[in-house]
Amino acid sequence: MRVLDAEFVQGFIRMADDGFLQGWHERNGGNLTYRIKKEEIESVKESLVTKSEWQPIGTKVAKLAKEYFLVTGSGKYFRNVNLKPEENIAIIELDDEGENYRILWGLCEGGRPTSELPSHLMNHEVKMEASGGKHRVIYHAHTTNVIALTFVLPLEDRVFTRELWEMATECPVVFPDGIGVVPWMVPGGREIAVATSELMKKYDAAIWAHHGLFCSGEDFDLTFGLMHTIEKSAEILVKALSMNPNKLQTITPDNFRDLARDFKVTLPEEFLYA
Ligand code: 13P
Ligand code: ZN
Repeated sequence: MRVLDAEFVQGFIRMADDGFLQGWHERNGGNLTYRIKKEEIESVKESLVTKSEWQPIGTKVAKLAKEYFLVTGSGKYFRNVNLKPEENIAIIELDDEGENYRILWGLCEGGRPTSELPSHLMNHEVKMEASGGKHRVIYHAHTTNVIALTFVLPLEDRVFTRELWEMATECPVVFPDGIGVVPWMVPGGREIAVATSELMKKYDAAIWAHHGLFCSGEDFDLTFGLMHTIEKSAEILVKALSMNPNKLQTITPDNFRDLARDFKVTLPEEFLYA
């Protein structure tokens, strides 16, 4: 099969386009990676050719050795993914040690995978383990309202989790484990990758202060849906704070406990403080 005819590639392109249409991907902002299933890579094998030498990932992801990923390119615009996918995204393969990658399809006008590849792959490794292999998508977006909140709220998991849960009744059902916060760090390297993947052991989403949001999920719908839900909740919080920084009423800890019971989710008590 041609790579562009594969359903997983179509799903990836649609997600990139949806993110652009939300306004989360100015210029080359954001990146998306997908851990390809065995049968999916088999289905496009005839269209893959080794297009680069092995290149260092910049970190070691031993548990992802020999895995294949569909990734956005560094410096490439989400806006162009749908228009010219072969120039803007790539299929890569990891080596036997999980230390190097090489390109097998895409980036046909040159380029390399996203500069956040270390963060993406370390998050993939952690989430693959934590989900028993179910999580396959890692998504980073420059979500406007989440970023705005990192200038006015304390950069603490418990504060962001609780404030975002309170803004939309279904938030605790969508991200019951809460959300982590990484303080401002230089993007693109191993240090921010380690900090993020540490939080991703516990959460499916991590905020990068003054930068954006990282989400992990099983498929494109769930991962896009998580990003969308968190950013929508942040938008409501920005509006509410702008109108009146003091809430007159909200969803209370006991309301959350009632919700958790009926929706059969477990909400950690650390986020239900008075
Ligand atoms: P890339 O273009 O290298 O993916 O970087 C964009 C970005 O958002 C960095 O955090
Ligand atoms: Zn970014």
